[in-house]
Amino acid sequence: MDLGIKGRRALVAASSKGLGLGCAEALAEAGVDLVMNGRTEASLIDAADSIRSRFNVEITTVAADITTEAGRAEVLAAAGQIDILVSNAGGPPPGLWSDWDREDFIAALDANMLTPIALMKALLPDMMDRGWGRVVNITSQSVKAPIPALGLSNAARTGLTGYVAGTARQVAPSGVTINNLMPGIHATDRATSLDTGVSEAQGISMDEARAQREATIPARRYGTRQEFGAACAFLCSQHAGFIVGQNILLDGGATNATI
Ligand code: NAP
Repeated sequence: MDLGIKGRRALVAASSKGLGLGCAEALAEAGVDLVMNGRTEASLIDAADSIRSRFNVEITTVAADITTEAGRAEVLAAAGQIDILVSNAGGPPPGLWSDWDREDFIAALDANMLTPIALMKALLPDMMDRGWGRVVNITSQSVKAPIPALGLSNAARTGLTGYVAGTARQVAPSGVTINNLMPGIHATDRATSLDTGVSEAQGISMDEARAQREATIPARRYGTRQEFGAACAFLCSQHAGFIVGQNILLDGGATNATI
């Protein structure tokens, strides 16, 4: 399918690895020029080189921490005019409800709620002026069904979801859509780090930790960044203009709910 977005320009935050990279790759495959970001310059450059060589699109890279005001300013200054925003950042650490203090919540809110909101505030006005735009926020399955060990994520991402629900309806008249993608478990470094926690806490091997988790997923496997990226690119496509303010689960059926 031609996604109808060839020649558009996308900012994909936190995109040197994992789900952000999957989104960047799928958008590049659709002919979209990219602004890619991550904190580690070497992996960011590697990812951009690999995408350029496969899809022949223009890519600007900005190594910066997207969760800081200075990092965002650097990314936005290099970005120029943006048609598509994919917001993303690393997820908060796991723990127990009784572990977290104010500082932990502030850090999680900064990364997973206030960062996407700041990026949207910066980029939405120009998209609205030009009558076309797409925003996809990478959130989490934990918005729909809380993950006990990820209370910081549950809290921060639910706040973002509330903001998007109202904002998406206010920008839609200008041809701009905002939607959230809610990943369940996908095979990325983040999944490996969560599995490492389970393996250490339960004294089991990494393979056992993964098999244990896969058994809870009706699809009986982890998702891939390519599958995730394809869904993201569709939401950014010309065909998705009537999808407004939605929260779409990509979790292999793991969330047991009728709707
Ligand atoms: P990942 O494999 O750890 O990749 C994270 C990417 O983001 C890397 O490119 C990393 O590069 C970059 N990054 C992290 N923090 C950043 C920051 N402050 N500023 C700029 N770039 C940053 O993670 P993932 O699995 O793709 O997860 C992406 C998001 O989805 C996370 O918020 C995660 O919690 C959420 N999620 C993931 C899953 C899953 O199963 N994978 C499930 C639910 C939710 P640098 O380290 O070089 O900065």
